[in-house]
Amino acid sequence: MPAVRRVRGHTGPVTDLVLTGATVLGPAGPERRDLAVVGGRIAEAGAPGAAAVDLDGLVVAPGYVDLQCNGGWGIDVSSEPERLWDLAAQLPRTGVTAWLPTVVTGPGEVVDRALAALAAGPPPGWRGAVPLGLHLEGPFLNPVRRNAHAAEHLRAPSVEAVAGWSRAAGVAVATLAPELPGALAVVEALVERGVLVSIGHTDATADEARAAVEAGARWVTHLWNAMAPLHHREPGVVGVALTDERLHVGLIVDGIHVHPTAVALAQRLLGPRLVLVTDAVSALGLGAGAHRLGPQAVTVGAEPGVRLADGTLAGSDLAMDQAVRNLVAMTGCSLVEAVTAAATTPARLLGDDDRGVLAPGRRADLVVLDGDGHLVATYVGGEALHRT
Ligand code: ZN
Repeated sequence: MPAVRRVRGHTGPVTDLVLTGATVLGPAGPERRDLAVVGGRIAEAGAPGAAAVDLDGLVVAPGYVDLQCNGGWGIDVSSEPERLWDLAAQLPRTGVTAWLPTVVTGPGEVVDRALAALAAGPPPGWRGAVPLGLHLEGPFLNPVRRNAHAAEHLRAPSVEAVAGWSRAAGVAVATLAPELPGALAVVEALVERGVLVSIGHTDATADEARAAVEAGARWVTHLWNAMAPLHHREPGVVGVALTDERLHVGLIVDGIHVHPTAVALAQRLLGPRLVLVTDAVSALGLGAGAHRLGPQAVTVGAEPGVRLADGTLAGSDLAMDQAVRNLVAMTGCSLVEAVTAAATTPARLLGDDDRGVLAPGRRADLVVLDGDGHLVATYVGGEALHRT
């Protein structure tokens, strides 16, 4: 694998760079050109004294934005939300430059602790993938589609229960089952407060899913998983997700959660509405052994995937850079399309106009890849936080 080679010494700040020789996946499409970074942002021209980084033969793409990440490297956001900054410091190893710490169904105080940890900001000297808000997956989930979510912590939807949830308070995404009594009022209340509402862990019919979209839901959490399968007389959430242009759709492309053919079907129908997520848990980066997902004990063992004791899948140990390569391998889509699903679309879905596109003025959150999508380096704010 090629290494990042610095060909000239530099005297300027570390966030002043000129990346040379690479194919840049910019807004106008792939183009071989220099990419200047000044003060951590993409610029029209390089600053005096900037370091030149020779990336001949490599690809520069927007940094990945993971909208569903529960943990990694032994850290479980839903057990120890205070450690989300430690996890964030590891994520550039997977090409992730921004993310949503994801809290699964559990005691309500965990959400308060996670919001407090986010609001407190990073410790001094911290560097890592920037958390853009929380993804609260639960507790308003359908018990028959709860999968790895703890039954005793599921709750009935109520507007009172989400009184403190808003984008301003740090809640970026909420996943709920819209068919539950009272759920649509919660959807409307959250949308009003700037929260992206996602349909998930749901037994909704197509009509119920459509009603959720009418109420303002705009995302679907891990398509195919924790919802009814596609049926021609009752197409359910899957049918609505694949056909309603108002929805964007998350997908776990680890080769375990969704069959490659179902991945290909989704990718072809969704196009730029597809969002790659990892749904990674604390096992990410560690491998086999015992781990946690909120109140649940999970294991990586002989069978592929992260599972509860009864075999139920409980998140993944998927790295985002692997998800990008998997999507290309399973669907035959281009690396550009896969990068769009990992970076550009999730950033746009969050309304983040500072990320996801390599255009002048935007943050220099980017990944350096080889032609097959293998990660060579990750830059956050123009600073190289990971190199292979
Ligand atoms: Zn889930």
